[in-house]
Amino acid sequence: MADRYFTETPIQDRRAVLDGPEAHHLIHVIRAKPGMEVTLFDGSGAEFPAQVEQVGRSEVQLDVLERREIDRELHRQVVLATALPKGDRQRWLIEKAVELGISRIVPLQTERSVALPVPNAMDRLRRTVIEASKQCGRNRLMEIAEPQKWLDFVEQTHDVPACRMLAHPHGTDQKMAEPDPSVPVFLAVGPEGGFTDEEVSRAVASGWQLVDLGPRILRVETAAVVLAAKVPD
Ligand code: SAH
Repeated sequence: MADRYFTETPIQDRRAVLDGPEAHHLIHVIRAKPGMEVTLFDGSGAEFPAQVEQVGRSEVQLDVLERREIDRELHRQVVLATALPKGDRQRWLIEKAVELGISRIVPLQTERSVALPVPNAMDRLRRTVIEASKQCGRNRLMEIAEPQKWLDFVEQTHDVPACRMLAHPHGTDQKMAEPDPSVPVFLAVGPEGGFTDEEVSRAVASGWQLVDLGPRILRVETAAVVLAAKVPD
């Protein structure tokens, strides 16, 4: 796979311009020269082989050679609602969620969770999504939704036809039921302090199935990855 670069501006014709961190990498790290071939993607689901035409001080102009519809998405929509861990573990979780094909992450505010990501941190996480997508070949960006209260999320999604799985250490079910491929899968992971009994029972009343991931207590980010990996594609 040629080096991949992301452009915020949708690619519509034969010309593309990279700026910001993407251009910086191409100019100062790769030291791109005219004629070099790269792959561009704009989050639309396609990717575009392109050739560097002109290297400026902070911009790179490229000639787009082709549009290729290459789908590396899961066959169903998977939404991960999770309390976020802190610092590096937060970035790690976002990176793995992108690699596993999650469509949307909803950072959760729960009774026992600590601080929510501030806007700056959200921007950094969106950058992590781009970096991970460059690396793993996804041509659609995982969405990071605005943080939401867990019980609001449960209520708002109550009427949406979906398969709902909540990771809970003392849950009764070990296995994830085979989800109907036509409906989205909603996954939920609690904070280090766990969901409260009320948060669990309200979810169960809204059709969430409790999934036990084994006898050891996992970190939030490990639980999220293990739960996401159980969704059959
Ligand atoms: N002290 C908490 C554990 C929190 S771990 C308790 O005992 O409930 C953080 C989150 O990761 C949990 O809310 C749950 O969603 C998930 N998790 C961790 N280990 C798990 C396990 N063995 N099975 C299912 N979910 C688990």
